[in-house]
Amino acid sequence: MTDSVLCGLIGTGVLPSLTPPLHEEEGRRQGLRYLYRIIDLDALGLTVADLPRLVRSARDLGFRGLNITHPCKQAVIDCLDELTPDAARLGAVNTVVFDDGRAVGHNTDWSGFGRAFDRELADAPVRSVVQIGAGGAGAAVAYALLSRGVGHLALVDADAVRAQRLARTLVTVFPGAVIDSRPLATLEAALAGADGLVHATPMGMAEHPGSAVPAAALRPDLWVAEVVYRPLRTELVRAAEAAGARTLNGGGMAVYQAVEAYRLFTGVEPDADRMRAHLLSLCAAEESDTAAFASSSADRTYRL
Ligand code: NAD
Repeated sequence: MTDSVLCGLIGTGVLPSLTPPLHEEEGRRQGLRYLYRIIDLDALGLTVADLPRLVRSARDLGFRGLNITHPCKQAVIDCLDELTPDAARLGAVNTVVFDDGRAVGHNTDWSGFGRAFDRELADAPVRSVVQIGAGGAGAAVAYALLSRGVGHLALVDADAVRAQRLARTLVTVFPGAVIDSRPLATLEAALAGADGLVHATPMGMAEHPGSAVPAAALRPDLWVAEVVYRPLRTELVRAAEAAGARTLNGGGMAVYQAVEAYRLFTGVEPDADRMRAHLLSLCAAEESDTAAFASSSADRTYRL
């Protein structure tokens, strides 16, 4: 453990990320000098091709580690010396730790979602789950679900090839589960017999308003897990609540991936509840700036 920690986040469009304040505030509360820098490829006029140079420079300049996000989670693997077994199986890295000059790739997206799921939906039935969205977040979430014994996972994506590819990869890692891909047009039929729904597309974010799932397909005995967390209560989460379904919003995954990255960077166990409360306040402050929040904030309660 050290009392001075320098970390960063590499990706595109990450200037408004909530991750730096989350890490830095926890560091401050733990008495660390914790600096978390944004390295936004767009803002710097860089591309994924610059990733090897950026990772090398971070290591040489004394960074303790990096978080890695879209569109670099796969490409960064070629810049690393070692992967944890889970990151290798997932083929995606969101956390790099520099250890004795070696760059080690971890994936805390899947473990972060898993921890959030265990917290809110540990007793939920997982015989049959439908997941919409088979991109980067979708791969991590599917891995976590299958690690928790989901018997049948049906993957749906607007890009059918992506869903098929992810299903093929996961079958090799979880041979005991039934994992298949379904056409987007059959989403409602697939949901009719499912215990749970996981949403992992960008729909519901401010830039992608709406919901990828028709409200009519939601029902009280179908649990719904969301990965989008800005806003915390997406249109899907609100529709699921209105249908009487148990819900897990995307905030838990966001917090716990950061909690685990913080521990890897510092060697110190962070206060996860404090980080959850902090993310909650950051999201609430952000949403209080929007007209939508202002119209009905009085009756909103937030849970991560
Ligand atoms: P991505 O671009 O890698 O994948 C998104 C997938 O969704 C694509 O395969 C796309 O074809 C599919 N898609 C888009 N719209 C669709 C629709 N209407 N119907 C069906 N499929 C559709 O993106 P990603 O990195 O997987 O991120 C997805 C979302 O997850 C983003 O909103 C991101 O903010 C969120 N996310 C949250 C966390 C967290 O910690 N809570 C972590 C990572 C990502």
